[in-house]
Amino acid sequence: NKKRVVIVGGGFGGATAAKYLKRFSPDTEVILIEQNKEYFTCPFSNTVIAGMNKIDYIKHDYKTLEKKYNVIVMHEKVKKVDGATSTVILENGKVIPFTKAIVAPGIDFKYEKGYVEGSEKYAPHAYKAGEQTLLLTEQLHSMKDGGTFVMVAPKDPFRCPPGPYERISLVAHYLKENKPNSKIIILDQKNKFSKQGLFEEGWDKLYKGMIDWRNVEFGGKVVSVDPKNKVVETEDEEVKADVLNYIPDQKAGKLAFDSGLTEGDWCPVNTKTFESKLVKNVYVIGDAAVASPMPKSGFSANSHAKIAALQISRILANQPVVNPPKLANTCYSLVSPTYGISIAAIYEAQEDKITDLKDTLGAGGLSPAHADEGIRMQEAEYAVGWYKNQMSDIFK
Ligand code: FAD
Repeated sequence: NKKRVVIVGGGFGGATAAKYLKRFSPDTEVILIEQNKEYFTCPFSNTVIAGMNKIDYIKHDYKTLEKKYNVIVMHEKVKKVDGATSTVILENGKVIPFTKAIVAPGIDFKYEKGYVEGSEKYAPHAYKAGEQTLLLTEQLHSMKDGGTFVMVAPKDPFRCPPGPYERISLVAHYLKENKPNSKIIILDQKNKFSKQGLFEEGWDKLYKGMIDWRNVEFGGKVVSVDPKNKVVETEDEEVKADVLNYIPDQKAGKLAFDSGLTEGDWCPVNTKTFESKLVKNVYVIGDAAVASPMPKSGFSANSHAKIAALQISRILANQPVVNPPKLANTCYSLVSPTYGISIAAIYEAQEDKITDLKDTLGAGGLSPAHADEGIRMQEAEYAVGWYKNQMSDIFK
């Protein structure tokens, strides 16, 4: 009676969980089910849009997990994870029983205000990487000099809080070099954003006068959108875009809803183990899980995955779970190819909450304001280092 853990979703969360479960519990059978053969990371996708890297830079596959770590990888779409019968049901009807399941489906979008399924063909969100990254790249690169790039940024909570602003920075870098008469408008559906002071300092230094950020209170609130014609109607005016990067508000991936794992938009979990509060023996990690104050990031998903894998391996071996587990996150952002900023935090998880250890231990921190060029340059190098390390931690 071999124990089997089935993991659904092969992104930052799921792929990490598969590798680490095999490490912590080599005798357990680990099955990773992911619908795509290749995984394109959102991290560093903004560098592809800006023409700094080619799409292959962010492409990864599951061969090493299979060959080196003995994970059984299946490329199938999952219809439902059924807690009542402890089975995973595939779209093709096949049923796979499990001892424990880990679900890491990432996010899906809220289709509202005229942005519907299919709108991403005209006004790409590029908030899932791959095809969408290429489409936005192509639109930006064929935009005329003197054109307007408009981004609609989502309200909280959403995947990668600094992601839209790193994208704006690198789009500005591309435009400054190639189409200097162009401008950028951000229509933000919130009042403030992550690392705002640091981003604005960088924008002022590098892209003065190019970026017009309008928050939800002052000119940013979107009433409706016409994706085909790239027109956004705000409370005050119609904004016409040459390129429209519309990032909708977000919720947990569809599979989480179909599997009864959600309450509201996201999946509540016991944060000490990441077991769902709603379905026994099913664990939810990554963007889909409620793990605030941790941001929805790849690093957070990687950290959740290691804790879930560790606690599951201990439960399967009849050992007590690690208490309290510690988690970590760092988000690097590039304001230009040679100008990096970051935010870092260490967390401790109890059953019902996650605590940022900044207040008690002074852990973590933000890049200094008004730092010299050398520090910004170093952080840009650390950003690349972080990406390479994280990819080898997950896929190699
Ligand atoms: P995902 O990585 O989205 O993985 C989910 C997987 O599940 C997908 O591969 C999907 O195909 C699969 N799946 C879903 N449903 C099914 C199903 N029914 N059947 C089979 N498979 C299914 N994070 C950082 O830490 N650092 C960064 O610098 C950073 N930069 C970012 C920049 C941008 C522009 C964006 C958009 C995000 C960025 N992020 C960054 C955030 C990061 O990409 C996400 O937080 C991370 O991908 C979450 O991992 P996940 O495992 O929850 O979901």
